[in-house]
Amino acid sequence: MSFNNLGLNESLLKAIKDQGYDTPTPIQKQAIPIVIEGRDVLAAAQTGTGKTAGFTLPLLERLSETHPHMQKKQIRVLVLTPTRELAAQVAESIKTYGKYMKYSSTVIFGGVGINPQLATLRKGVDIVIATPGRLLDIAGQKGIDFSVLETLVLDEADRMLDMGFIHDIKKLMKMMPQKRQTLLFSATFSNDIKKLAAGLLKNPVLVEVARENTTAEQISQVVHYVDKGRKKELLSQLIKTNDWRQVLVFTRTKHGANRLTKQLEDAGISAAAIHGNKSQGARTKALASFKANEIRVLVATDIAARGIDIDQLPHVVNYELPNVPEDYVHRIGRTGRAGKSGEAVSLVCIDEHKLLFDIEKFIKSEIKKVHIEAFTPDPSIQAEPIQNGRGGGQRSGGQKRGGGNSRNRSRNNNNASNSQNSKKPESKKRDPKVNNAAAQIGSRMQEKLDKLDKRDTSVNSGLKKNNSRRR
Ligand code: AMP
Repeated sequence: MSFNNLGLNESLLKAIKDQGYDTPTPIQKQAIPIVIEGRDVLAAAQTGTGKTAGFTLPLLERLSETHPHMQKKQIRVLVLTPTRELAAQVAESIKTYGKYMKYSSTVIFGGVGINPQLATLRKGVDIVIATPGRLLDIAGQKGIDFSVLETLVLDEADRMLDMGFIHDIKKLMKMMPQKRQTLLFSATFSNDIKKLAAGLLKNPVLVEVARENTTAEQISQVVHYVDKGRKKELLSQLIKTNDWRQVLVFTRTKHGANRLTKQLEDAGISAAAIHGNKSQGARTKALASFKANEIRVLVATDIAARGIDIDQLPHVVNYELPNVPEDYVHRIGRTGRAGKSGEAVSLVCIDEHKLLFDIEKFIKSEIKKVHIEAFTPDPSIQAEPIQNGRGGGQRSGGQKRGGGNSRNRSRNNNNASNSQNSKKPESKKRDPKVNNAAAQIGSRMQEKLDKLDKRDTSVNSGLKKNNSRRR
């Protein structure tokens, strides 16, 4: 199948051709025609599946079909994203695919001056890509008018909820017209996401792609057991001996990311850190240098790394395991994107054995352990509680709103001995409130949610199959 049969206009097809894409990805094949039709969509898809083009292309097509006169402060399409990086990336995609079209777009996020954003919005803008916190500030100042909003997209909705944006989102929803198209993209489907979907979407079409299966096929996963104090040495050795040129390394804390960056630089390996305490300018610069292969290592915390899309990123290293098993899947999903293979290496010390156990339980498979003789752990070292840094969990920089982040709270309480308190794989038994919410919009929605439950089960068994095949 080619892009020609999906209902996109010549300008868009030309831009797609410039990108060198021949074939739509599964999510693009499914989503593009139904978004053009104006239907609501509930999409189970992670980054790496081509989902951004899956919604930006049909939205640009729809925008090109009518040309209403924009009044002051009015907008036609709103894309909400959890992080500034993802907002910038979506804006970049829109620019890429819309390069032969006439439309206006702008990106709105915190951490930079609000006045230029207010001035841009004042003129009326076709597409706004925004993080919820700053958008709510602007809406509070009556800087934006949602009255003619045609389409709302919630991208990476699961992350937005994890980051405590639910209240901001609900407040924003109240300002939007009831009659609109809504698209909700999420990698995972917790009860909270299902509740949100049930409240927002009208008779949605379910679009799903088995990204996790593809990930398991294409990403080789390895664990090296190593003492905590020797991780930096092992990481430097792996980078140097394997001649890794582009490595995304995850640490648990912002302080840890800074410290590791310095240690790598001291070892002669170019590196930069990206996390919530860095200014937007520093984050953008670090990411650009990493993408351009000017630095070898980008050290990131989980939330800062969300939305980072690097074509053909070959290596991801978990310098420290995440406290939340789902984050492991998100982290390793940074590699092996768009059909390319990748490698995910986890350095695991004795304090993290329970976290590894939780991750393997979550993905329902055992990760291959590779012993490196020179780094055999010292058996006399005892497990210690895991330090998550002062203040523990973090939000993306500059977005400190609300603070109601239950997931981050659970991170703060986590340690080696009580890590059984960390987030467990979600129970398949649905919360009664979710059932009520789903019932409100009828049994069709319920069917869709059931289908997603089934998908989660089949995805996990797919991962298991793929990993055991490799062992
Ligand atoms: P996304 O899931 O939107 O983050 O996209 C993942 C990557 O796939 C991006 O680097 C896109 O440029 C790339 N991509 C999107 N659509 C296609 C396509 N049809 N063919 C090849 N690559 C694509």
